[in-house]
Amino acid sequence: MKKNLLGLTREELEQFVVSLGQKPFRSRQIMKWIYAKGASDFDVMTDISVPLRDKLKEVACIGGIDTLERISSPDGSVKYAFRLSDGNIIESVLIFDAPRVTVCLSSQVGCPLGCLFCATGRAGFVRNLTSAEIVDQIIQIKKDIPEKRITNLVFMGMGEPLLNYDNLTRALQVITSDFGLSIGARHINVSTVGIPDRMRALADDGFRVKLAISLNATTNGTRSHLMPINEKYSIEKLLSAASYFAHRSKRWVTFEYVLIKGMNDSIEDASRLAGLIEDIPSKVNLIPYNPIEGIDLCPPSLGVVERFQRILLDNHITATIRFSKGTAISAACGQLSGRLKKRN
Ligand code: SAH
Ligand code: SF4
Repeated sequence: MKKNLLGLTREELEQFVVSLGQKPFRSRQIMKWIYAKGASDFDVMTDISVPLRDKLKEVACIGGIDTLERISSPDGSVKYAFRLSDGNIIESVLIFDAPRVTVCLSSQVGCPLGCLFCATGRAGFVRNLTSAEIVDQIIQIKKDIPEKRITNLVFMGMGEPLLNYDNLTRALQVITSDFGLSIGARHINVSTVGIPDRMRALADDGFRVKLAISLNATTNGTRSHLMPINEKYSIEKLLSAASYFAHRSKRWVTFEYVLIKGMNDSIEDASRLAGLIEDIPSKVNLIPYNPIEGIDLCPPSLGVVERFQRILLDNHITATIRFSKGTAISAACGQLSGRLKKRN
């Protein structure tokens, strides 16, 4: 099988070119072609000799995901469906939130964690994405907006990024490297249900990305009902790892809280949430539940959402409300690929 050069770290690419009998600096030339100039084949690499280009064509490839569909939303965001080389479909979203240009990335095909309120979780799990497939989502979208620079990334698409730790961190190395996509770690937000040992590893391994933790409830009973993973990693374990990450990486963490009517949106929930996180350098992002076909849950009224926020603010917790962009184009991840699967 041909080696996919996309998503290899600088060291890995260096080893690869050395294994072809080349000098290590060739890897930097190749990276420049791939990431700075968007090359998807070797013919364009004019500063590389023809015999080496021929050799590379024989043993290597670059990328390989195809854009299947682009759907624009009235708010300007664009939802992408990509077909992977094995036929699976994943989603990404391009969001214009001036001055930011953000891409929301998938980390897995489906997700094994089965959260009650999530379209991806309902669809089940197929496999982890390779680091090439993670990076390729950015490259494909970048091609569509040559006049703009992608400034921010969020891992809030399909899948649980920390269950794909090796490929996630390899992709992060490529994304943040000067030889790669040069997007600074502080502009990258990894969203997780909270896998404690991986959260600690991310901080210990020196990744200075931001972490968003999907808390979504204030009691273990409710959280386990909404998010079965809570049976394994309770709120207490999660908060202890969150505190570790915040202190070790010197970064505030964000707690994401999907508000669902009658489930986790009471006055008591808001006060309890403030108490749970008061000692952790953090802020809260409130997300009104985005309704999904076939799931019997509703978002609270705007009044209830604002009341929840007010209680947090009164308790000196920074809290913002995020109205999901692209609701009209099924931007809550998992919804588009579900629809495409049904249709195909
Ligand atoms: N697996 C990771 C990242 C992907 S989900 C995680 O769970 O954090 C990204 C965010 O979308 C999470 O905060 C999740 O709680 C939220 N989410 C999932 N389904 C949603 C829905 N139907 N409405 C609103 N937010 C949702
Ligand atoms: Fe997976 Fe995140 Fe969806 Fe839960 S919310 S099922 S962890 S993608």
